[in-house]
Amino acid sequence: MANFSVFEAGDPAEWSKLTMSHPAFSKPIHGKFFLGDVLGLDGMEVSLNVLPSGAEVPFLHTHREHEELYLFLSGRGELLVDGERIHVGPGSAVRVAPEGERSWRNTGQEPLVHVVVQATAGSLASRATDDGVLVPNVKPWS
Ligand code: ZN
Repeated sequence: MANFSVFEAGDPAEWSKLTMSHPAFSKPIHGKFFLGDVLGLDGMEVSLNVLPSGAEVPFLHTHREHEELYLFLSGRGELLVDGERIHVGPGSAVRVAPEGERSWRNTGQEPLVHVVVQATAGSLASRATDDGVLVPNVKPWS
């Protein structure tokens, strides 16, 4: 079995065509797509998201166990966490604890493109540089 899996999501400008189903909603949700199933992720969940100009998420949500990283790639918006507004734009990275009551909206003229990573809060045993192991004596590109 290969040690990798690949999914091509295409140009983020086209992510609005991606859809997901959620048991709480009768219709498919456009502009949101989870990578977990297609990649076989088992230590995190990742979604690709685009919210059109003027759109907002019309509800608050929390999580039972997952912290979330909201990584904004383009557009302008606001993330609302426990009543506090956080202005976000390209390069904004916001961590929200499981119990944070959150919503977000697009306040700009362009689509708000963002990636959300979920993982069980407190589950990380070490930082990335502590977990990485060099493979010795191999020139990878020769
Ligand atoms: Zn969430």
